[in-house]
Amino acid sequence: MAIKNAYLLDLLARTEKRNPGEPEFIQAVTEVFSTLEPVIEKRQDLVDAGVLERIVEPERQIIFRVPWVDDNGKPHVNRGFRVQYNSAIGPYKGGIRLHPSVNIGIIKFLGFEQVFKNSLTTLPMGGGKGGSDFDPKGKSDNEIMNFCQSFMTELCRHIGADLDVPAGDIGTGAREIGYMFGQYKRIRNEWVGVLTGKGLNYGGSLARKEATGYGLCYFTNEMLQANGTSFEGKTVLVSGSGNVAIYACEKATEYGAKVVAMSDSNGYIYDKDGIDLKAVKQIKEVERKRIKEYLNYRPNAEYHEGCKGIWTIPCDIALPCATQNEIDGESAKILVKNGCKVVSEGANMPSTPEAIDTYLTSGLLYGPAKAANAGGVATSGLEMSQNSIRLSWSFEEVDEKLHNIMKSIFKACDEASKEYGMPGNYMAGANIAGFIKVAEAMKAQGNV
Ligand code: NDP
Repeated sequence: MAIKNAYLLDLLARTEKRNPGEPEFIQAVTEVFSTLEPVIEKRQDLVDAGVLERIVEPERQIIFRVPWVDDNGKPHVNRGFRVQYNSAIGPYKGGIRLHPSVNIGIIKFLGFEQVFKNSLTTLPMGGGKGGSDFDPKGKSDNEIMNFCQSFMTELCRHIGADLDVPAGDIGTGAREIGYMFGQYKRIRNEWVGVLTGKGLNYGGSLARKEATGYGLCYFTNEMLQANGTSFEGKTVLVSGSGNVAIYACEKATEYGAKVVAMSDSNGYIYDKDGIDLKAVKQIKEVERKRIKEYLNYRPNAEYHEGCKGIWTIPCDIALPCATQNEIDGESAKILVKNGCKVVSEGANMPSTPEAIDTYLTSGLLYGPAKAANAGGVATSGLEMSQNSIRLSWSFEEVDEKLHNIMKSIFKACDEASKEYGMPGNYMAGANIAGFIKVAEAMKAQGNV
């Protein structure tokens, strides 16, 4: 969607100038701005309060050195980041990404998205994001621990249970959160819920592990039902084979769909009889191996090198759950040509602007990441609540709360899309609903 409003165009140009070499951040800002035009026209008070100028500038950006030593005694240095993006509606909240591609622009785009996503959850959480260009692949357990301890030695000065509560993301799962939590506790000498995604025997929440993937399917199910259809009998592609992908596959299958493909950064598997998720969990969660090992469990399945090919498989529903910009314009066109009717995003910003244009012009049902994958952070919010009241809720209690949150997120997107004249455009609905709550809080708190 093209931006026409002169004020938004000027602000976008200034934002680009101030943030050179950060294409992902500019992409995220452009997407949000492209849907805010009707809001700007209706809410001059928010423009007058300088909310938009402030919202494109994070409150704080921290960059630090992370020295660590490998198993051979060789020293290494990585770069650590924490962007404390916006605290208007609650403490900063957002995951930590460990991947060699990480840089300040990627963390800033993720933090920006997180602000609106957290607003949609209905819980009192501001937005933040962190990470490092450390590559966990091929590292021993001891090296992972050394890195996590060094990372937290600096990060612990900047976070706190009422200030900033990080969580997992790509490359940061329960093991890494455990090492980071241990180091925080050791240095600060306090046991508080400063991280979410913790182990179940030390303050973690039941259903947190499943939450992003399950939440994605709860949201998608609402979107399907509102449009007179369901998961039942549908063929589904799920990219990735990490935390989000595995539990999206599980819930979509429970809803009666057949997931036929999954992937990792090397390639994808196609199993026309439906993915054997037990095998994927064994390979990815237990053995930490590559997805091509799947053929050892299901010799009739196919493995193909490269990530993009997964989108050439005919499907009804595509659930991208790996990483940003994994569906480009060309892949989106192939999906549409092959009969795909729904794209719902588990990963953050997995579709390029060209891909989104294709979804919107082809009339696909499009569930944008900010709304569709908000179940993870929502359940992190529920973990914070349980830590604060020193109680643990059952799996069923947390899952029911998650389900209700995802229903209310869909409702908010649907209603905002209608109120602002773009019915069925859930991307616009998510951006607008998420933005208005944060913007009103920022206006109420003055020019800070
Ligand atoms: P994991 O590290 O558990 O899994 C990531 C998966 O994506 C792996 O299969 C990985 O393959 C693949 N992948 C990562 N980078 C690339 C790449 N550059 N190209 C192709 N494939 C890649 O991460 P999560 O499942 O936690 O996160 C997946 C996505 O979901 C991310 O966009 C994340 O920001 C988003 N998200 C996660 C939430 C959570 O609760 N975990 C919450 C909301 C959003 P390989 O193993 O080969 O690297």
